[in-house]
Order: sequence, then structure tokens, then C-alpha cells
Amino acid sequence: MTIEKEKSRTVLNEIQKAVASIRNKRPAYEKILNFYEKVFLIQEASGSMVEVEPAEISESALSLKKEEKLPLVQMSDFIVDHKRAAADFIQICNILGEGSPKMAQAAPKIIDALDRKLFKPESFFDALLQKNDESLTIAADDLGLDPEVLSFVIYNSVQPSVNNCGHQFSVYLDPKTPFDAGYCPVCGNLPALSSLGKDGERFLSCSFCWHQWRVKRIFCPFCENTVSSKLNYLYADDEKEYRVDGCDKCKKYLKTIDTRKLERPFYPRLEEVATLHLDMIAQEKWQASDV
Ligand SMILES: [Zn+2]
Ligand SMILES: [Zn+2]
Repeated sequence: MTIEKEKSRTVLNEIQKAVASIRNKRPAYEKILNFYEKVFLIQEASGSMVEVEPAEISESALSLKKEEKLPLVQMSDFIVDHKRAAADFIQICNILGEGSPKMAQAAPKIIDALDRKLFKPESFFDALLQKNDESLTIAADDLGLDPEVLSFVIYNSVQPSVNNCGHQFSVYLDPKTPFDAGYCPVCGNLPALSSLGKDGERFLSCSFCWHQWRVKRIFCPFCENTVSSKLNYLYADDEKEYRVDGCDKCKKYLKTIDTRKLERPFYPRLEEVATLHLDMIAQEKWQASDV
């Protein structure tokens, strides 16, 4: 067995272990966890096979980016393994009926359009990387598909390629110089999740490429507020591994996983979907006035 395949098998086992542990603790999540477990397993299996070769970053570009504290690349610099992503697109469509009610409702239409070859999944991948939401919405409208569900399937199909490219780009980052900013040092996107490491150090996980970077403990990644009296957090006694950090200045929040209190492997994307109840509580606290 190659090292890559062995590594991928370990990750697959860890995902299954983590899902089983959360499913036990919070049965209400069973259906959604079963669905995401399948999505993650498709992606991890695919991740060991994607072939992508992103462009190299020159020394001069690198030093400029470092000086200006700019992300290494843009989303459009990511390369997608079209063949693999198209295969994942079909696989994800085939399990979409097991997802949220909205996904289940959209599933037959997407599958029908695929069967009738009304579109090629490949045609959407670059639109996502170019952040061309308009063309995706128009395409979804033409096909009578739900644009949000279509975007979900597209993103999750390209995710193994994005992840692989993100890793390749991240080797350009200097591990000794922390990137103390609220946007991803690789691709510039905002964080989806925050986590605390074994010594209490804080990391952010990118919402696009899922790169993790270390930041200072007390600061809001969205408005860079560092006034501690304006930074608050919520937690529940029965879920010690979670907290929600919110900012009273910009009214945004981020869910945080304290890995020191986590009794299962840490798979950030899983923790993100298994904490929807925290979003409801946090939205109530920080965003109620906006609704
Ligand atoms: Zn990123
Ligand atoms: Zn803020």
C-alpha cells in the first residue's frame, strides 16, 4: 500500500470514528451526520487520487505577498482535476436525497438533468473558482435547479482538488512567521471555524481551502477588534469541547472547538456541520437585531 493510500485510510477511519461518537452523543444529528459522512468519505477517497499541478509562485511574488501580508493566491489559481471532480459530482448527486429536505427535494431534478446530459458538471467548476455566482444562478435557473443546492454539490465535488492545491500552496508559507490575520494566508477567504490546540493556542480554518493558520487568542477575525470587553463567548456545560466567540463590535461570531476537550479525532468540516445548534444560539445573541 502506498503512503498516500495508507494515510487516506487512516483519515477515513478517523472520520467514521468521529461521526459515530457525535451520533451517540447527539442523536438528533443522525440523519445529517449519515449524509455528511458519505460526502466526506467520497472526498477523502478521491483526495488520494486527484492530480493537480498548480502554478509555482516566484520568489519575487512571494516576498511581495509577505511584505504586504497578502494571501499567496486567489481562488482562481486553484486547479481542479475535472475528471475526478465530475465523478464526485455524480456520486454526491446520487446521495443528495439523504441530505437536508431542501437537498432531497432538489435531488431528482439534478439527477434527471444529469441523465439527460443537459449539462456537464465540468462547466461549473471554473465558475465557482472565478466566484461567478451570476453564471451559476443563470445556469441553475435554466435547468430549473435550486442554485444553493447546485453550489453545494459543485463545491463539494471540487473540494478534493482544492484541498490538494491548498496543501501544495501552503508549503510556501513560512511556518516560523505566524499570519496574524482574519483571512486565510493561502487563498484569502474568511474562516469557517476556530480551534484551540493542545497548549491553548488558537487556529482558524479556512472556509474554502480548509487550511489552518495560527492567530492570536484575543481578536475578532472579521473586524480585527482586540478590545476584550467587546469580545464575548458562549458555552454550554454539557458540551465542553465547544464555545462560540462573538464580537459585540461587528456582531459576527465564530464557533470554536477546544481540541483539548475533544474525545474524538478532530475533523474540522465534520465539527462545523455537527454544531448547527450553536449557530442558532449565536445568531440569537449577536445577530438578532439584524433579522
Ligand atoms: Zn484558504
Ligand atoms: Zn468583529
